[in-house]
Amino acid sequence: MPFDLLLRRARIYDGSGAQPFLGDVGVEGDRIAAVGLMPNTEARLFIDCQGLALAPGFIDPHNHAHNEAEGGILNIPQADNMLRQGVTTLVAGNCGGSPWPIGEHLDAVSRLGIKQNYALLVGHGTLRAQCVTEHNRPATTDEIAQMRNLALRAMDEGVFGMSTGYFPSWVTTDEIVQVSEVIASRGGIYTSHIRNESAGVLEAVGEALEIGRRAGLPVLISHIKTWGALAWDKKDQILGLLEAADDVEVHGDRYPYTACFTGVSALIPSGVVEEASRRGGLASLRDPDWQLEVLPAIREHIETAGGPENVFFAPLEPSPDLDGKTLAEVAEAHGASPEKTVIALALRGGVSCIIHAMREDNLRDFLAHRLVMFGSDGHLRRPGHGQCHPRNYGTFPRAIGRYGRDGRLFDMPTAIRKATGMAADKLRLAGRGYVRQGYFADLVIFDEEGLLDTATFKQPHQYPRGVKYVVLNGHLAVDNERTLPGCYGRVLRRGE
Ligand SMILES: [Zn+2]
Repeated sequence: MPFDLLLRRARIYDGSGAQPFLGDVGVEGDRIAAVGLMPNTEARLFIDCQGLALAPGFIDPHNHAHNEAEGGILNIPQADNMLRQGVTTLVAGNCGGSPWPIGEHLDAVSRLGIKQNYALLVGHGTLRAQCVTEHNRPATTDEIAQMRNLALRAMDEGVFGMSTGYFPSWVTTDEIVQVSEVIASRGGIYTSHIRNESAGVLEAVGEALEIGRRAGLPVLISHIKTWGALAWDKKDQILGLLEAADDVEVHGDRYPYTACFTGVSALIPSGVVEEASRRGGLASLRDPDWQLEVLPAIREHIETAGGPENVFFAPLEPSPDLDGKTLAEVAEAHGASPEKTVIALALRGGVSCIIHAMREDNLRDFLAHRLVMFGSDGHLRRPGHGQCHPRNYGTFPRAIGRYGRDGRLFDMPTAIRKATGMAADKLRLAGRGYVRQGYFADLVIFDEEGLLDTATFKQPHQYPRGVKYVVLNGHLAVDNERTLPGCYGRVLRRGE
């Protein structure tokens, strides 16, 4: 019987980190039917991959595609900014927030045409919001029991694990351990936005490891980094903690940029945000006396992040007074100090920014480390709409092309593994992440020499070069660097 699709004479990277080999890949239905040299084989569609590399479709373990406030798969299901990088599976629900209820959301997404496979984590913050009425105090025993029930329900409705956000001081380690225990009982993982990525980063990494150890589940540290000058000298110790944790399965994910993308309130120290929460919310910063008291701490925090020239506004909706401007520029236009401007914009709401708060040498060491995989921390984006972080368009080609091939931080088999099999293993994603007979035919065919990101901070809405073809569940989704109209992505549920 002829194949539905035959990809001929590709350099095949199978996702395991093994050296490439020359071969053909035969696809039947949604699966890889055969891998090897198959001359004179019949197929309904051939793609000549001579001179090109073939790899498993990339898996993004850290994505925010669920987030309706920031685009969101329900609003822009056909966004192709991730697909065009070669990404065939997105894992959303990161950073402590997810849709709720899970089952309803996944059903709604599965009724849409989507451009990649879509898997979900449940957010600890989301579970907590269902069970704890006041957000600024520790959860009671009863509330933790409720969270555990909801976590179990989320697992049974198909999530792959639980994420935490930058949780505040009133969320105890014990609370997360207890909720994680039920995630562990169903074979899920814990992805951790650790409590602190700045001066307290070592304690925070230690806490994530403790949660994994005590609850008995694998840990993925989200966008592992050293944020701001107070953390820059701690990179080796962070990696040392990961290496020494032989009783926890721990990994990190990382995007290949030295700038983060976050709400402007990230420039307000967490202690002040927590105090504001106790006083009834961020609006309490309007109180002139208290504002006067906290301004120096905000100023210091801005300096830690590199100063007001280092913060670039990137609101999700076009906003001419802010788009692409620095905090220094906007403050000047307002005739106010940077710290007062931060408060004003935090109160306005919906203002996000790009902060160049990381160091290139640390980024390289994180990316290259054997326990670190690639993850975009990105979103779906409507081309040309608003400002955004270039990672939404460039993460995978940049990590592989710029840091691997050009920067020689790792060889091509390792780069591909960090983009594919490593994430599939971590998330327990069945049947994906490898070029193997019987696996789903999620494949990317790219030009090894030409693969390059083109998205920049000034012009983020730019597709990468060199991603020639993408096959998704057996269907051609990108043809010669053009997105085809078909939508072949699926909702992935754990256990299916
Ligand atoms: Zn994130």
